[in-house]
Amino acid sequence: MAIQRTFSIIKPDATKRNLTGAIVAKFEAAGLRVVASKRIQMTLAQAQTFYGVHKERPFFGELCEFMISEPIVVQVLEGEDAIAKNREVMGATNPAEAAEGTIRKEFALSIGENSVHGSDGEDTAAEEIAYFFSGLELVG
Ligand code: GDP
Repeated sequence: MAIQRTFSIIKPDATKRNLTGAIVAKFEAAGLRVVASKRIQMTLAQAQTFYGVHKERPFFGELCEFMISEPIVVQVLEGEDAIAKNREVMGATNPAEAAEGTIRKEFALSIGENSVHGSDGEDTAAEEIAYFFSGLELVG
């Protein structure tokens, strides 16, 4: 597998509980390198655009309100097979179903407040990175 880049968010439930370093340590231990990182707070419009694919889902409003409730840390992770590796380290969406040792198993509070976001494919990774980072911020 080639070296890939993927997009990650450390969500409000995790930044609020001071878990940024603990979560980054999980990425690094899995061989993922943080090649860009910044702490921001999204506007409602930005959250609605970012999660636009879920706009018909019953939890859309709750999800967007949650994502703007506190600052988040947006990151680009790089490594061998980074998209799948990040999803593996994150664990299942619902922490009750997440495997031992995964971020969501250890830190997530619920299916909604589940500590991390990670791109689910090559196209979404490229789109999500470009939504939050300019080329100048990606130093590799
Ligand atoms: P992911 O790729 O594992 O993050 O999962 P999805 O793409 O299916 O969902 C996106 C995000 O929406 C999840 O990470 C959760 O924060 C949220 N979400 C998904 N399902 C539910 C749900 O049933 N209730 C609530 N409140 N939030 C949900």
